[in-house]
Amino acid sequence: MTSAEIKALTGQYIMNTYGRFPVAVDHGQGATLYDPEGNAYIDFTSGIGVCDLGYGYQPWADAIAAQAKKLGHVSNLFYTEPAARLAEILCKRTGESCVFFANGGGEANEGMIKLARKYSFDKYGKGRSAIVTLNNSFHGRTITTLMATGQEVFHNYFFPFTEGFRYADANDLSALEAAGDDVCAVMMELVQGEGGVLPLDKAYVQAVAKLCEERDWLLLVDEVQTGVGRTGSLFAFQQYGILPDVASFAKGIAGGLPMSGILASAKCRDVLGPGTHATTFGANPVCAAAGLVVQETLTGEFLAEVQAKGAYLRQGIEALDLPCFGKTRGMGLMIGIEVKEGFHKGEIANKLIENGLLVLTAGPGMRLLPPLVITKEEMDAGLDIMKKVLA
Ligand SMILES: *Cc1c(COP(=O)(O)O)cnc(C)c1O
Repeated sequence: MTSAEIKALTGQYIMNTYGRFPVAVDHGQGATLYDPEGNAYIDFTSGIGVCDLGYGYQPWADAIAAQAKKLGHVSNLFYTEPAARLAEILCKRTGESCVFFANGGGEANEGMIKLARKYSFDKYGKGRSAIVTLNNSFHGRTITTLMATGQEVFHNYFFPFTEGFRYADANDLSALEAAGDDVCAVMMELVQGEGGVLPLDKAYVQAVAKLCEERDWLLLVDEVQTGVGRTGSLFAFQQYGILPDVASFAKGIAGGLPMSGILASAKCRDVLGPGTHATTFGANPVCAAAGLVVQETLTGEFLAEVQAKGAYLRQGIEALDLPCFGKTRGMGLMIGIEVKEGFHKGEIANKLIENGLLVLTAGPGMRLLPPLVITKEEMDAGLDIMKKVLA
């Protein structure tokens, strides 16, 4: 099918919930995508932080094909090897104790919220179930995770929402200290992604971890976007020097297949016992086989390169000194670019995409989430497009 035919068919038969860029994607190699007509696009998006190994990565495709031939799904009523092995690796690499596998970020965060409320209920009974999240956060699109999201615009249309969420400003410890006796947990992204790529202060995060310990609140860290190598460590919490009670992951975990989950610390491993939490597709063996390839690829050396690539790209963007861009920020290959007054992030994104560079927006600025395997040549090609289009 041509791009025009795909767009027409989509318009007719897929519910119109997305503001799409006007590009149909057919295939990819490395960090480069191609439309059905063969036009190339340098990809600074990874399918929103998902395709950490880029496109056409042979070991990933081979592992998926081999597992699909053996066993595609059997449910959690039985044991399977790929998920057990992936859980072992995730625990050993982080110091967490066990994993619950799910399918998407919002669903993983729901599990984290359920765990926190049950931890508190088991220990203290009813009335201690509030969860404090941060303003400008994003935690998902389910009725509960919309409410967990600390942005008013998400609290519309779908009433009634789940009760028991409070909001505090990021990097303001006093707001958390003032939270009431009915709190059971604090939930946060360490780099707010959708909010605009805003890294939290390290001292603040460590102080929050200490406060949570003092008050027996669970510290829930949403690593759906920051996790799995994106920031230059397997999880961002490792660079912040904390071990969350529970951390969620999703986007990059399986390199492009739908998989998510939560990591629980030793204290939290038995909170959700048999019958309290489940999901039919969770721990899917094909997704887990893909996740194992991601873990094999993300060695310490590879993660150090992610840091170096992020620094290279940020310096490259700042060196262009474009009239529309201010400072860059972020961690590893999770990069935000400030858009200066008088310029519009959506227009900038459209211009870049028209000219062969896929980018994202977030909060008030631009957001770049290139595949972690992106090469220097591909980064340079992206920078050249920025220069040509935006200078
Ligand atoms: C993307 C994202 C989510 C939601 O994940 P879905 O897979 O779309 O449900 C939740 N939290 C954060 C931080 C995210 O970036």
